Amino acid sequence: MKKILMLPGDGIGPEIIKQVFKILKNYSIIFNNIKFFFSYIGGISIDKFNSSLTKETIEQCNNCDSIFLGCVGGYKWNRNIEKPENGLLKLRKKFNFFSNIRPIKCPFKNIDMLIVRELTGGIYYGKPKGFSKQIINNIPSWYAYDTELYNEQEIIKIIKISLNLSLNRKKKICVIDKSNVLETSKLWRIVSNFLLKFYKNIKLSYLYIDFASIEIIKNFNKFDIIVTSNLFGDILSDECSLLTGSLGLLPSISINNNFLSLLEPCHGSAPDISGKNIANPIGSLLSLVLMMEYVFNDLKNSKKLYYCIYKVLSMGFGTLDMKKILNNFKLVTTEEFGDLVNHYFVLND
Ligand code: NAD
Repeated sequence: MKKILMLPGDGIGPEIIKQVFKILKNYSIIFNNIKFFFSYIGGISIDKFNSSLTKETIEQCNNCDSIFLGCVGGYKWNRNIEKPENGLLKLRKKFNFFSNIRPIKCPFKNIDMLIVRELTGGIYYGKPKGFSKQIINNIPSWYAYDTELYNEQEIIKIIKISLNLSLNRKKKICVIDKSNVLETSKLWRIVSNFLLKFYKNIKLSYLYIDFASIEIIKNFNKFDIIVTSNLFGDILSDECSLLTGSLGLLPSISINNNFLSLLEPCHGSAPDISGKNIANPIGSLLSLVLMMEYVFNDLKNSKKLYYCIYKVLSMGFGTLDMKKILNNFKLVTTEEFGDLVNHYFVLND
């Protein structure tokens, strides 16, 4: 029995998770042994329970094999002290989802690389952080500070994951950092260089984040696996949506040491388009593809779902953000796109 906890979250989260659930329900008939639960995270959880991640939701996460998340955040909570995003950061940290794998793949454009983002360390979590006041030039002034902090163990874990992943790919890894300025980046280089000794056939290269952000767009074919810190990975994967065409296309999976997995699209809650039935559900649907492969070890259905998504796209059907990407573009809503993919998935076509 596999237990899946669905956390739709905020903004477009419920709209896109609904499309995933259509297919999951049918998949549960094929797989025959899946149980679903639903719960709250982020802004909706603040509204209902005054907390972005409640003890009850944590308990439900503890009792499942996989967490399927939509996205969190929105203008509504901009002035809150407790932010919706805290719920997601707490969830990742609590369950030690230290490695976040983000496939950047587009069969139409021959793009296929992986970003491996460290997810539970670095500047998003480093202490001290905060706001304070001091007197500057006799004027009381606010200042704010964050801390970028990585220990050797955290870096070893994420580099090892990348090295192991590369064994089944092109055996090519690029560490992206800012080691000309940052001490943490220097440690990333020392550790990755040391670990490479145990992986003789893998080619390891390094790039500074500033030049890398140009190279990724200009020469994406040079890259296979990119491994990087929490902050740089967050930014680079959004940038990579320029390659595939839309931020709505990118999926991700994070796995912890206890084989609990977290599936989520790479995008945010897109408050500018939420509630309009125009959000692209593909990032979430491709996260389901990843779940079938990595959680259920079901390569057959994972490939089938991937094929169904691209079948619908190659017929020209897409949400508004796909207008400039697809040939013979035919506009469909979020719901209609989900229905089409579900139709072909069920048809076994
Ligand atoms: P965003 O990813 O929500 O949106 C950026 C742009 O991409 C917007 O124009 C949006 O309409 C578009 N977009 C995003 N997903 C799309 C989809 N599936 N289909 C079509 N278009 C899509 O980033 P943002 O605007 O910087 O942030 C909005 C909120 O989301 C903020 O509160 C932010 O903190 C939060 N956020 C959450 C996550 C997460 O839940 N993992 C990640 C990033 C941002």
